[in-house]
Amino acid sequence: MRQINHFLAGGAAPVTGRTHKIWNPSTGEVQAEVALGGADVLQQAVDAAMKIQPEWATTNPQRRARVMFEFKRLVEANKQALAELLSSEHGKVVDDAHGDIQRGLEVIEFACGIPQALKGEYTQGAGPGIDVYSMRQPLGIGAGITPFNFPAMIPMWMFGMAIAAGNAFILKPSERDPSVPVRLAELFLEAGAPEGLLQVVHGDKEMVDAILDHPDIPAISFVGSSDIAHYIYSRGAENSKRVQAFGGAKNHGVVMPDADLDQVVNDLAGAAFGSAGERCMALPVVVPVGEDTAERLKAKLIPAIHALRVGVSTDKDAHYGPVVTPEHKARVEAWIDTAEKEGAEIVIDGRGFSLQGHEQGFFVGPTLIDRVTPEMDSYHNEIFGPVLQIVRARDFEEALSLPSKHQYGNGVAIFTRNGHAAREFASRVNVGMVGINVPIPVPVSYHSFGGWKRSGFGDIDQYGMEGLRFWTKGKKVTQRWPDGGGDGSNAFVIPTMG
Ligand code: NAD
Repeated sequence: MRQINHFLAGGAAPVTGRTHKIWNPSTGEVQAEVALGGADVLQQAVDAAMKIQPEWATTNPQRRARVMFEFKRLVEANKQALAELLSSEHGKVVDDAHGDIQRGLEVIEFACGIPQALKGEYTQGAGPGIDVYSMRQPLGIGAGITPFNFPAMIPMWMFGMAIAAGNAFILKPSERDPSVPVRLAELFLEAGAPEGLLQVVHGDKEMVDAILDHPDIPAISFVGSSDIAHYIYSRGAENSKRVQAFGGAKNHGVVMPDADLDQVVNDLAGAAFGSAGERCMALPVVVPVGEDTAERLKAKLIPAIHALRVGVSTDKDAHYGPVVTPEHKARVEAWIDTAEKEGAEIVIDGRGFSLQGHEQGFFVGPTLIDRVTPEMDSYHNEIFGPVLQIVRARDFEEALSLPSKHQYGNGVAIFTRNGHAAREFASRVNVGMVGINVPIPVPVSYHSFGGWKRSGFGDIDQYGMEGLRFWTKGKKVTQRWPDGGGDGSNAFVIPTMG
């Protein structure tokens, strides 16, 4: 069986000790196993990173950018193979895997501009003969702990920014689809990065705890579910680390009576069911405003959802593939059971879905649930599957309050032709990322990404200039070069520039 080992400087020994099985979600077969490491493996990675990081930090930013440029070229040259590998472990269709890689590459492109982005500030003559300048310096070793649902994009978001800024990086990817992160690290080495600059350690809680407690890792970026995010944030902060920890989501799409419903249905089909709903920026809740809008929308949604094609991840015509593991399939179906017990109306039922010829695959049929209310557990919690819930709102204010009061605050969208309503919504909604007639408002790489409430713990976003801030610390220098003699000031009084 194919074995996936840690990617450490100096190569890795064969897999020994605990392992985790890697499924092919389309066939239901185990296709590989990944090593699960702990403190000893992490220490090897830290030792190698510490050896190389000081030299990397003093490598001029233009040379660091050249590695990023070459890495981008190599990922592009290997994109098809990476996308196929990704989809074989994750289950998303190959075209969607291309998108996963592309959105990561866009942050690498931003990181290619590191010489410009890292320029500091300078004030000449802040006082008599005094200049002040500020610079951003790397932290040392950064660590990233990533989820299964974007095994290319999220690692690149993290290590692209961290490494360009002068840090070494240790990545702990999801143990469910770890092959692409390892491949990316191999390509990074091929791109000219020194050995040890980007390493990949595999594992579960044991490895994560080792990272959280390691005294030589000053900063951790995490993306995953909210309870774990909160744990990472608290324990990391307790250990005096800088932590950003992004959690789960339940994004709402508000549909105003004047919206173009054909466009909305098209957008919703992709945003709710694409990648089998396993996206933190999916739109699993639609909020039509007014009964008439709800009825018109539902009438258009039903045939559109029936027309969705579920297929294996290599099926070019499939809209979406299987979910990631058998446990996840059971979990999604259990949430549909809960919704039913809570009194919601199961309009289209994806439970018990079986794909002919692939009966062992982890497929869940597209599901539409109406008459969902805010008190229901199935509304309060993240389902993370191909399930769209309709929550009917009486008016704009009620529609605005639903995402605003929800425990998660990652993304939200409003569909309308009314600029005033859209503007009002965007300014008042208590959610971090807003789309106006845009169903999946993931900001471009030169803005930054981050949700609010239980979707994001910590106060600095990912990538863009925020990402750069996260992976660096600011130093402020006040300098004076006297030409001899004193200026007669009292050295015992706090200096002022007046
Ligand atoms: P997860 O929380 O199960 O796993 C994320 C990471 O945490 C993995 O690397 C995993 O090995 C590790 N982990 C798991 N259990 C742990 C434990 N008990 N202690 C320490 N570490 C542990 O998440 P997932 O299922 O891989 O990913 C899906 C979740 O990620 C969803 O909730 C989704 O909304 C969220 N997500 C959020 C964003 C965002 O930007 N907010 C982006 C993508 C995914």
